[in-house]
Amino acid sequence: MITVENLTKSFSGRTGAVVALDGVTLEVAAGTVCGVVGPSGSGKSTLARCVALLERPDSGAIRVDGTDLVSLGGSALRAARRQIGVVPQGDSLLRQRTAAGNVALPLESAGVPGPQRRTRVGELLDLVGLTDKAGSYPDQLSGGQRQRIAVARALAANPSVLLADEPTSALDPETTGSVLTVLDRARAELGVTVLVVTHDMGVVRRICDDVAVLDHGRVIEHGKVLDLVADAGSRTSGSLLPSVD
Ligand code: ADP
Ligand code: MG
Repeated sequence: MITVENLTKSFSGRTGAVVALDGVTLEVAAGTVCGVVGPSGSGKSTLARCVALLERPDSGAIRVDGTDLVSLGGSALRAARRQIGVVPQGDSLLRQRTAAGNVALPLESAGVPGPQRRTRVGELLDLVGLTDKAGSYPDQLSGGQRQRIAVARALAANPSVLLADEPTSALDPETTGSVLTVLDRARAELGVTVLVVTHDMGVVRRICDDVAVLDHGRVIEHGKVLDLVADAGSRTSGSLLPSVD
């Protein structure tokens, strides 16, 4: 279970402070997929980066299985980070490394010995269906294949939580499906809790159990996908939930 409590985060801009998160509270049950949607600038990436412990919030708590991660420092913080796999926004693979080399990176950082590393990389490539692309460089892969490798890399250290920031934003519908399948497999086969940032309600409907709608750094809706989609027209956030077929 991930619990985000009253998270705030501001950035100092040239024209004063920008409030990116304005008291965000969210609960994601273990082994479920939660979508985070909302307009550009609403704080989605900042929320994901805070939960990933890549950004320190100004106040609030982030509890994973009861432990507040915000209060951690030093080696405890580094250990907590390893529990959280991240698929960053945009193209994030290292160009000069093969697909297998990218997936191996977190294992190298963690000091996993070579033979174990190779076994684990093999398992992960199998999970994302790209065993035959192990030796390919990112430039030789399609956008969807690159994102699947990014998911495999995020899962390398066996995290309990997976965060994906707009993992399908640059992809066509068909390729999007292959990436969503991989996220769903991570949840179903590894029991990972997934938080996926997206502007695509199709993504929400296909793999999310719950969805949180952010606007101006606040959660304005949070609930079961089926309830919110069914109700979208009659709610204040209706305009933020694009009509679905
Ligand atoms: P989203 O991912 O929903 O588009 P972000 O979380 O990226 O939104 O941004 C939320 C707000 O915080 C925006 O106004 C953005 O300009 C601002 N912001 C995000 N990161 C930074 C940063 N590192 N420095 C300054 N402002 C930032
Ligand atoms: Mg973003």
